[in-house]
Amino acid sequence: MSTPSFKVVGLPGDGIGPEVYASACAVLAVLQETHGLNIELEEQLIGGAAVDATGSPLPPATIEACRRADAVLLGAVGGPKWDGNPAELRPEKGLLQIRAEFNLFCNLRPIVTHPALHAFSPLRPERLQGVDLMIVRELTGGIYFGKKWRDAEQAEDVCRYTRPEIERITRAAARIARQRSKRITLVDKANVLETSRLWREVAHRVIDEEFPDLRMENMYVDAASMRLLTRPADFDVLLTENLFGDILSDEASMLCGSMGLLPSASLNEARFGLYEPVHGSAPDIAGKGVANPYAMLLSVAMMLRHSLDCPAEADALENVIHGCWSDGLLTRDLRPDGLGTGQVTAAVCERLRAGIAALAPF
Ligand code: NAD
Repeated sequence: MSTPSFKVVGLPGDGIGPEVYASACAVLAVLQETHGLNIELEEQLIGGAAVDATGSPLPPATIEACRRADAVLLGAVGGPKWDGNPAELRPEKGLLQIRAEFNLFCNLRPIVTHPALHAFSPLRPERLQGVDLMIVRELTGGIYFGKKWRDAEQAEDVCRYTRPEIERITRAAARIARQRSKRITLVDKANVLETSRLWREVAHRVIDEEFPDLRMENMYVDAASMRLLTRPADFDVLLTENLFGDILSDEASMLCGSMGLLPSASLNEARFGLYEPVHGSAPDIAGKGVANPYAMLLSVAMMLRHSLDCPAEADALENVIHGCWSDGLLTRDLRPDGLGTGQVTAAVCERLRAGIAALAPF
């Protein structure tokens, strides 16, 4: 049987983007050796680097390359150099455009705490035990995309959701829940908002009719924001709309200890996805070789699992990363005497080659 081959577009971007992207390339090269993966990586421009080179934050060549690809791996975009640019020439515009161009409606943010990192979280260690949740956020609808207007005295942002939008994100969350503990918490504000009441009706119907093996409970967003701090381990799959997901995912990210540890994925219905660390371009540390590459490497693992259908390789990479954490192989955002980006990358590559993972599941 021939090994399937995949095409991935790499978008290093700005600031520390190229540094963590280089780490991802090194790890993918090792996975090709050790696991026989066949991935063709094509590098393209996005963000400030693309504005400088082509006058556009998302040049047509990048869009065309992404159209031919199975997945996209992005470093980060933005930086002070472009902060004064008009809206159309802001690096972040490239990111918004790529989401819209490929209809990336399903945003996944896994939040997994690890005992070796508990000390870096603002929460007490006993509250962090066993936290392993997946935030599924609707990314292309809701109040961020609704009609907006403003005059001198008033302003309005319309929050609108349609049945098909709710159905497809519920199905995406349900497919993920099936591979986990089969529990979904639907987070909304159904005591006040009409859109939330539509979400409840539609999401429960999808689960009842199409996924009867799953259980879905409801929680108001205010209660969920408190629960994330008091009993985060209660959650498994948390499904919510765009605005609530934006806020809750940033709140939940604090449980892990550093922005440099958090991956994300944004998918469409064809399982094509954009994979990127949650953090930005960190201009304050760019070029110093100290950026934490784990968020990017965990994004690679998500890409292997969700778009390339290589779960064994994803598991292998995640296990190696967790093993590195257990052994204290951390960067300077976590400890002053921490390792550099290159040292962490080399350790991950070496362990992948040697087949060394965490000694025991945590
Ligand atoms: P940021 O995430 O870039 O940085 C916040 C803080 O976290 C900084 O102190 C930074 O040094 C640190 N940090 C972030 N990632 C790190 C890593 N991997 N290793 C070690 N430390 C890390 O957020 P910001 O400073 O608000 O934004 C900087 C730029 O990034 C802005 O132009 C912003 O628009 C852009 N941005 C881009 C994205 C994206 O590309 N998806 C996301 C957020 C912000």
